[in-house]
Formats: sequence, structure tokens, C-alpha cells
Amino acid sequence: MIRDNKKRPIYLDNHATTPVDPAVLDAMLPYFGEKFGNPHSGTHFYGWEAREAVELAREQVAELIGAAPDEVYFTSGATESNNLAIKGIGRMYRGRKDHMVSCVSEHMCVLDSLFNMEREGASVTYLDVGADGLIDLDALADAITDATILVSIMTVQNEIGIIQPMAEIGALCRERGVFLHTDAAQATGKITIDVKAMNIDILSLTAHKYYGPMGIGALYVGRKPKVRLEPLFSGGGQENNMRSGTLPAPLCVALGKASELGLAALENEPARLGEMRDHLLGRLQVALPGIHINGSMAHRVPGNLNVSFEGVRAEDIMAAVPDVAVSSGSACSSASDESSFVLRAIGLSNDLAESSLRFGLGRFTTAEEVDYAADRLIAEISRLRQEKQDAGIPTRILDEVK
Ligand SMILES: *Cc1c(COP(=O)(O)O)cnc(C)c1O
Repeated sequence: MIRDNKKRPIYLDNHATTPVDPAVLDAMLPYFGEKFGNPHSGTHFYGWEAREAVELAREQVAELIGAAPDEVYFTSGATESNNLAIKGIGRMYRGRKDHMVSCVSEHMCVLDSLFNMEREGASVTYLDVGADGLIDLDALADAITDATILVSIMTVQNEIGIIQPMAEIGALCRERGVFLHTDAAQATGKITIDVKAMNIDILSLTAHKYYGPMGIGALYVGRKPKVRLEPLFSGGGQENNMRSGTLPAPLCVALGKASELGLAALENEPARLGEMRDHLLGRLQVALPGIHINGSMAHRVPGNLNVSFEGVRAEDIMAAVPDVAVSSGSACSSASDESSFVLRAIGLSNDLAESSLRFGLGRFTTAEEVDYAADRLIAEISRLRQEKQDAGIPTRILDEVK
């Protein structure tokens, strides 16, 4: 199945997770070694050393998103951050303001937290997205009522890479006096985020989507206007009572380093990724008829491409190309048999949704890898289509194939 043990498949699934940057690994290792102290130990050198490292990391995370360090709370990742934001605010304002607004293409951990709030008595409006993947700002404005406490809209969609207009959404929310939360798991280190300029009150991020390790993330909670959240965990009151539990100092250090690198990468990496992504798309389009681009190309992170190949199933393509690691939709939904709810939300038929591949190019992707992937996909998709045609299976695309 896999090419062989030495030559590993080409990795084009950087939305599922990113490899840890070697500089991040170097930064964190000493905190698994001799710098092992508990950052909450206040009585000796070991604790102070770990504390200092954790606080530097907090500053690095804050700088990445334009926040103040004391507005950054460490969590285990974006799933926890999203749960804390939505449940925390819902429970804090329960009975006073019980309405939230979100959208249908959110990550499952946002949607499921909202479903939870509905079971606890809140009401939620789920905005539709257009074929481009964007929400409609007029629909958002109409959805906000006097009872609305929170709007939660993701910055970058994890399957189609669509960037929502956060500055406009933030301005609207501020004007209407509602809090804005955003799941920025796919955005940090990929596009510039400034929580103050964008009027974002609460933001979720996670290290393993921008070259840090799994299991560490953060929640930004703004001080002006002050957002109050009910914590999810009971315990020692760490993180200013927002998130009890001993901070994993090595992971915090890694998140900080990943944030520092992510900020620096904003200068050149987007252009490099965009060029490779456009080259990949161009090669596929020239060689293969019947390609559908899913979502707007104009509002997309540079490392993302999501396309459907008429007449072939994504699972058949992936089985034929085990030497290229891509996915069809999100890592979470690939466990289930359902086609992507996000692709159906932007208007795709079940057939087209089931023939879509998500490409995620990243910091360590090379132009040679992209060309290899394009060669292999073009060869195997052409072969799969030819096989279908030879077997007399009618598909729309086959009429167009010469
Ligand atoms: C990966 C991801 C998450 C979940 O993050 P974890 O840190 O893995 O819990 C949430 N939202 C989006 C958009 C993601 O891409």
C-alpha cells in the first residue's frame, strides 16, 4: 500500500495536522528534560524557570493575534477552546441572553457545543453559506436580536479554506453589542489576525495546525469589552480561574515558538504556497476535464485547494494513489461514511461531494512534491474514468472525455 518504508507518501493534508517544525521541537525538548519544573511551583528555581518559559510563550501567542498576554489562556487545543468559549459564555449569561448565531459550515466541535447549549435551553440561528462558502452579512445583521449574546463564525473553513470577512463581522457585532467568537484553528500563522482591529472578543487556536504539537492551544478572551466565561473545569484555579489544571510547560513553550515562527512566516509563506497551489490546480485543469472548484478561489487561504472530479469517487482516487496523502473532507468526518456536510452546504450534489479531494499544502511542501502529486493524480483519475467508460458505466463527464 504505502510506497515503501523509506520513501514515505507525499503529505498534502496540512489541514488535518501539520508536522512539528524542527525549531519548535528544539524549543520544547529541554522542558521534557532538565527544565521539568511545575510552572505553578512558586517556591523554587524549577518552578520559576518553567513559569518564565510559559509566560514568554503567552507573549508570543498574544503577539501573533494582536492581543495582550493576559488575554491568552492555554487550553488543550481548539476543541477545548471552542467548548469553553461557547458553553462558558452560554452558561454565564443564561436566563439573561439566550440566543447565539453561528453558521452551518462550522467545525463539528463548534456545532456540537451549540447543540449542547440548545439542549440547555438556548436558541441558535445557523446562517447558511453561499456557493462561495461565505456567510451573508445582511443575514447576520438580521439574525442578531436583543437576546443575542454571541456570534460564532470561524475565520478559515477547514475543508474549503474559505476566509470569512472577520473585520466586517467584527464591526457589525461591536455595533450591535454582541460578543464575537471565532474558531481560528486554520487561520493562525496562515493569514494576519488582529483581534483588536477586527473586534474579535474570543478566539480559539491550536498548535498542531501551525507546526506545533498536538494537545496544546489557547483561547483569547478580550478585556475590553470584558467577556465573562464560566469555566469548564473545577480545580486549582490556574489560568486566572478560567482553566484549572497544571499547564504543560513543554507544550506551552512549543505553542509560543510556533506562534513566533507563524508570525514571521506571514511574510513569504503565503505567496509561496499560493503559487504552488495555483500550479497544482492549473495542471489538474489542463489535463482533466470535469473539475469543479469548491468554494471561492478569491477568499481562500493559499495552502488550500478543494476540487471535485466528476465521475470518480474520492475514495477510489485515494486508494489508487496511496503515495500521496490527501483527504476527502475533514479528518473527523472521514471516520464516518457520510459525505461532507460542508460541501453539501455550499450546494454540491452528493455525487460531487463524494468525488472531492482536499489538498493542504504546507511549510514543508516542495514544488517537486506538488508536481509528483499532480502526475499521479492525473494518471490515476484518467485511468479510473477510462475503466468506467470501458465498463459502459455512464457518467456525465465521460461524454466530454475524448
Ligand atoms: C483542527 C480543528 C479544530 C480542532 O482542533 P484540535 O486542537 O484538534 O482540538 C477545530 N476547528 C477547526 C477549524 C480545526 O481545523
